Amino acid sequence: MRFVDEFREPELLRGQLEEIRRIGFRASFMEVCGTHTMAISRAGLRPLLAGRVELVSGPGCPVCVTSEADIGRAIALAGLEGVTLATFGDMMRVPGPQGTLSEAASRGAAVKVVYSPLEALRLAREDPGRRVVFLGVGFETTAPAVAASLLTARRDGVGNFFVLSLHKLVPPALRALLEMEDFAIDGFLLPGHVSAVLGARAYSFLADEYGVPGVVAGFEAADILRALCMLMEMKRGGKASVAVEYTRAVREEGNPRARAVMEEVFEPADAEWRGLGIIPASGLQLREEFRPHDAGAWEVESPAPAGDRGCRCGDVLCGRIRPPDCPLFARACTPESPVGPCMVSTEGTCASYYLYDFREGEGHVG
Ligand code: SF4
Repeated sequence: MRFVDEFREPELLRGQLEEIRRIGFRASFMEVCGTHTMAISRAGLRPLLAGRVELVSGPGCPVCVTSEADIGRAIALAGLEGVTLATFGDMMRVPGPQGTLSEAASRGAAVKVVYSPLEALRLAREDPGRRVVFLGVGFETTAPAVAASLLTARRDGVGNFFVLSLHKLVPPALRALLEMEDFAIDGFLLPGHVSAVLGARAYSFLADEYGVPGVVAGFEAADILRALCMLMEMKRGGKASVAVEYTRAVREEGNPRARAVMEEVFEPADAEWRGLGIIPASGLQLREEFRPHDAGAWEVESPAPAGDRGCRCGDVLCGRIRPPDCPLFARACTPESPVGPCMVSTEGTCASYYLYDFREGEGHVG
């Protein structure tokens, strides 16, 4: 298959690993994106790179970075009379202050799993007597599709379609990480999907202001290894810049059309991230003219945060610890019985370590 098979050639991968060893120093890079985290674990790269490159996972899983308060708010909305909450399946099992959306559904709340915002819009059209709220999570990758659904709703006069926008923006989160006192990495493996919308230019501040290199990478093992080689070469040369390995999908300027749709509907707003707290202008809220569709403006009573459950997701998302360093990992917390969102999500770091880097009886193999 073109654009796939050539990135999976064992000879190519062996050569790239050899190249990383040959460059010859130890480095630590953060993969920002949850899809990268999964791809790295699935390909077994962590143990292969041990002793040379340490890959630290970052806050690039949209489900994981959603704050507990926002999950509580979504659950409160789902409990309102005449409201159907439409959500991606991953959000169903994320613990909020008073349980999960799945538990709310079992108590009678109308919660529907959908695969796209357009499916949620269809639910609203089919049942004009109910208010359908789409739970908008994700980064620059998903926000344009949500924006398009709102434009369609407005054009077609679907007044019972709403969005609770919990979208997050990647560049402000990278800046927040770099501003943390204890944050020390040699460079970023930058997300491929987000960058296809945003463009590589959006990350130039990493090199210009912080002297930290970044490479936008694709999702095959060969993409990731090549990006790591590029990062190591930059580091060795002492020259930080932002480059694109994923040239088959990402341009410097990104996708202007997708960005324009997103900017027509949303504007930046402060947002709370799990582990990182409130980051200025790191979320997206609906612009004034779309407020009639804004479920974020509804008055609901959100429950107070639950007590400490011992979950270390906040530290995992900032790269402070690896999942096996959490005392609950693979004991009280597994994908079947998750304590925190990093074990729930299909892009979660804890789930990825559990599924691919951990062997029952042997522990962590990376
Ligand atoms: S292992 Fe579970 S409890 Fe620990 S940080 Fe990960 S998700 Fe949270």
